[in-house]
Amino acid sequence: MAEPASMRDRLGRPAGVLRLSLTARCNLACPYCCPDSQEPPELLSLAERLQLVAAAVDLGFGTLRLTGGEPLLNRDLEALIARLQALRDPRGRPSGPLQDIALTTNGALLGAERARALKAAGLDRITISLDGSDGESVARMAGLLAGPSAGEALLAKVLAAVEHARNAGFDPAAGQLKLNAVIARGRNDDQLLPLAALARRLGVELRLIEFMDVGNRNGWNLEQVVPAAEMLQRIGAVWPLEPVGRASGATANRWRYRNGDGDGGGQLAVVASISAPFCGDCNRLRITADGVAYTCLFASSGFDLKPWLRPRPDPAGLDAALRGLWRERRDRYSEERGPEAGAADRTTPAAAHAEMAYLGG
Ligand code: SAM
Ligand code: SF4
Repeated sequence: MAEPASMRDRLGRPAGVLRLSLTARCNLACPYCCPDSQEPPELLSLAERLQLVAAAVDLGFGTLRLTGGEPLLNRDLEALIARLQALRDPRGRPSGPLQDIALTTNGALLGAERARALKAAGLDRITISLDGSDGESVARMAGLLAGPSAGEALLAKVLAAVEHARNAGFDPAAGQLKLNAVIARGRNDDQLLPLAALARRLGVELRLIEFMDVGNRNGWNLEQVVPAAEMLQRIGAVWPLEPVGRASGATANRWRYRNGDGDGGGQLAVVASISAPFCGDCNRLRITADGVAYTCLFASSGFDLKPWLRPRPDPAGLDAALRGLWRERRDRYSEERGPEAGAADRTTPAAAHAEMAYLGG
């Protein structure tokens, strides 16, 4: 039996966002992420993913973000979104329906047809990741060994993807189309102003993400983190900003350009998971492409949900497993370690984390 939306974890945090990874593979090799070249062996089927999302929605996860690896590599993506539409019907859903389906993508495979197909299937929002504004920086951040010319080609595809998404009906002014950029000192912090200028020109909100210590392969250290306050200061010195705030449960702290034009380009957001962690109202559950649930991006181990999906579905067991997992949840890794502790943490073997492309960001 589904329980009302009041399901809370040990720290009183409600369920909110399910981040479902559709693949651990990627067509890029961003060095801050380091995706796998192969899928985990026990990849979930479309039917199993539908069961998982339905169970999560019934526990109060009203927002679904599809991610990866690169989710556009998944051929079932549109079919999955289309079949999820049934969960929008509030009837028989005591915790409320599925309200919002979002996608995070690097955009390289987002052609005009794919963008239209995603819209037609019922996708609500797209966030496209882009970490540079020229061929050199894009190549460096995407791990393109062929260098600036390859970076220019990728940049052109991503910029085209933004237009394809807009033309398909994803409206930046309504928050349906955004850009993500990871900023790392010494790697692409020279791109802060050019990226902000680009997003303003495109009329799309830019979300600047602090380089995070997720996974074990990306060589993270504190020196490479550009704190959100510094990013805001550097951009605000050129285009004055005023605070909008952070919605409860959200990752991003939002700002408005004082001379903004009111559309998506008039907004800027920072995700300060290192310098100003937001564990206190974290409402996110992550499920990997092979059905392992993680209650924190920085957790070192997950909880395998496949026993309730295979060899045959067990909806009651799945409901109980997810409910128990959430009720026992007490993760607040980012707040506990603090930025200084984080730097030391990475030298300790016990701090091994799952990789970002496996977790889905
Ligand atoms: N491939 C898709 C993409 O890049 O948008 C979706 C998966 S990716 C793991 C999701 C988001 O996580 C991207 O915006 C990416 O930039 C971000 N990300 C990956 N590794 C990160 C890290 N170490 N710190 C901060 N953000 C990271
Ligand atoms: Fe691929 Fe996204 Fe990771 Fe870059 S951040 S390697 S695009 S999964």
